Amino acid sequence: MKAYTYIDRGTFRLTEKADPEPLDCGDAIVRVTLSSICASDLHIKHGSVPRAVKGITVGHEAVGIGEAVGACVRHVKPGDRVAVNVESFCGKCFFCKQGYVNNCEADDGGWAIGCRIDGTQAKRVRVPYADCALTPIPDEVSDEQALFTGNILSTGYWAAKISEIAPGDTVLIIGAGPTGLCILQCAMLHSPERIIVCETSERRRAFVAEHYPGVILTTPDSCLDTTIAMSAHGGADRVIEAAGSDTSFELAWRCARPNAIVTIVALYDRPQLLPLPDMYGKNLTFKTGGVDGCDCARILALIADGKIDTTPLITHRYPLSEIDEAYRLFESRADGVIKIAVYPD
Ligand SMILES: [Zn+2]
Ligand SMILES: [Zn+2]
Repeated sequence: MKAYTYIDRGTFRLTEKADPEPLDCGDAIVRVTLSSICASDLHIKHGSVPRAVKGITVGHEAVGIGEAVGACVRHVKPGDRVAVNVESFCGKCFFCKQGYVNNCEADDGGWAIGCRIDGTQAKRVRVPYADCALTPIPDEVSDEQALFTGNILSTGYWAAKISEIAPGDTVLIIGAGPTGLCILQCAMLHSPERIIVCETSERRRAFVAEHYPGVILTTPDSCLDTTIAMSAHGGADRVIEAAGSDTSFELAWRCARPNAIVTIVALYDRPQLLPLPDMYGKNLTFKTGGVDGCDCARILALIADGKIDTTPLITHRYPLSEIDEAYRLFESRADGVIKIAVYPD
């Protein structure tokens, strides 16, 4: 089968590989019907994910159909349409029991698919801990509607949840890339008083204005003034940082009111400065890290109810045979690209 492979730093290539086989009774083989390209794939390509293993198939965002299903798998049957989770997790260890599945202690726990083991930018993928890492898709939800469930939509749902957004809050989201847009939709589920989105790209601001008309838009230059002007207590109650630029971390905490929660979703290329003397007395709570992707069933139910719709994020579609071209487009951010759906051919 064709599989998009991490060859070396800077190089991914479409290669021929044998079809995957189950290695454990908890595994399932999924025939991929749609996959997508994530910024984390680019982080692997550029060498900023040290755990990534050369030779693996990349990709960790997909939907498909369960084919071979191991004897221990209870929740997925052959023929089921499923969303693949970026994290495979055992569901039994100390961290899993508390919902911290990103830190699952099992061998293939956490972000393994498309990082440490073969991923989804291929015809088929082996999914360990299939009971936890696959979620059946309701009949009324299409593949394109479900495509981001296990990855950027899980991140958006998790970021909004851990930010403890309440009615009355002013929420600032920094960055309106694919993840920022998922955070925006999930923040809306918590009914805050207002949402401010800070984004550099005029085209992406226009996208937000078109699809989410109630949102206040700003740019990094005017973000602090806008946020203070729109907030009752000198800054945003909740700040979610999803830009990951050289200045966005500082912008995030400066825009926060005293005692705010600042959630850092962004993955930075470089260390960031935490100038505690400047923050002294502001009494901020920082929450950081990678998604705990264990709410896929809830997310799919919200999609089925029409409460979340990420299909407008799919701006381009490519066959797997042309995935090189899809990566070029995604990396260049040309042609208004937000997300690309890759289908088998
Ligand atoms: Zn990702
Ligand atoms: Zn676990």
